[in-house]
Amino acid sequence: MDALYLGSAGARADAVAVRRNGFGRGVYITADRTAHETIARASGPVRPTRTRFSLQVGWRLHLEVGPPLRFVNHSCEPNCYAVLPLDGTRVEIRALRDLEAGSEVLLDYDTFEYEMSYFPPVCRCGSPRCRGSIRGYRYLSEERKAACRSFIAEYLRTEASDRPVAAAPVRAVRS
Ligand SMILES: [Zn+2]
Repeated sequence: MDALYLGSAGARADAVAVRRNGFGRGVYITADRTAHETIARASGPVRPTRTRFSLQVGWRLHLEVGPPLRFVNHSCEPNCYAVLPLDGTRVEIRALRDLEAGSEVLLDYDTFEYEMSYFPPVCRCGSPRCRGSIRGYRYLSEERKAACRSFIAEYLRTEASDRPVAAAPVRAVRS
């Protein structure tokens, strides 16, 4: 496999590499990591709408990340998690467990996207615990929500008063 990009964000400049795989591309760690160790960091612009390469950081805010982290694939059985401070402009990817060099970095997109916009109709992650369709945190079972409680995006722990419910009209507020 050829490395297309080397990680350039944060202190661990050479911590990850992008390689071609069955999903197109994936992000791989280049050294052993221990559980909860930071693998990569990135920052980027925050926008009010979701894009193909954004991570949700607020009820109406989406952090767009560039390479290499935009190539991180989803798994229903992830080995990493994204630390996403409320309404923040940065993301930190950390190991969920001890990982060997060469492991692909895999995140559960349902732990930060409230409602998925850009995902194939059927998940192909291949995990024995694959949930089949990845539609966003709001559609997770209570069991799965409890299981990933310790590593979801921070905004998902906050009052969802501004929740983007599909049918709710957006009110223009003038002061
Ligand atoms: Zn899956």
